[in-house]
Amino acid sequence: MTKAVFLDRDGVITQEPPHYAHKLDQLALIAKASDAIRRLNEDGFLVVIVSNQAGIAHGYYQEADTAAFNQALGEKLMETGACIDAFYYCPHHPQAKVERYRADCDCRKPKPGMLLLAEKELGIDMKSSYMVGDKLTDIEAGQRAGCETILVKTGYGGETVQNNRIECSYIADDLYDAARHILDLPRNRRRHDDTLAHRTT
Ligand SMILES: [Mg+2]
Ligand SMILES: [Zn+2]
Repeated sequence: MTKAVFLDRDGVITQEPPHYAHKLDQLALIAKASDAIRRLNEDGFLVVIVSNQAGIAHGYYQEADTAAFNQALGEKLMETGACIDAFYYCPHHPQAKVERYRADCDCRKPKPGMLLLAEKELGIDMKSSYMVGDKLTDIEAGQRAGCETILVKTGYGGETVQNNRIECSYIADDLYDAARHILDLPRNRRRHDDTLAHRTT
């Protein structure tokens, strides 16, 4: 079975703000994100992006824009030897302006649908896998899918840490710190007290 690191995209790999990034000139990587992904690749993790793209539902941009943005992101990462193995996105929203995307779907995080689809399509062992994100909805999706969870402080992460009580495996400064945490964990030790972070405000 294959282990994976599921990554939220906006605010984890790419800079957010800008919100609803979809134009290629809005594509900016967070520092060392590329190094982090390459290190995860080298250790045998599949790296899988799972991204809510409600901007499609709201009519701010089209699915083709997201596809082009993701392709450009993949190419930019590949320039430094970092590989995204699969991209998943949810174009839906319950109050979508664009009718065909108006749905209470199973894929919009905090629901775990994108992760569960990847599990099936790519043969992923969820117990050996991680979800990394900057919002509570990312953490919840990871927990519901049966993964370890890591909150990063980039993107919305600073706000998320300040405003919520977070129960996740680790709170990381950024994706690079998350990767270091994942790769330093001995393989046969899971979910010990010293890796369980709690925050209260
Ligand atoms: Mg995000
Ligand atoms: Zn969806």
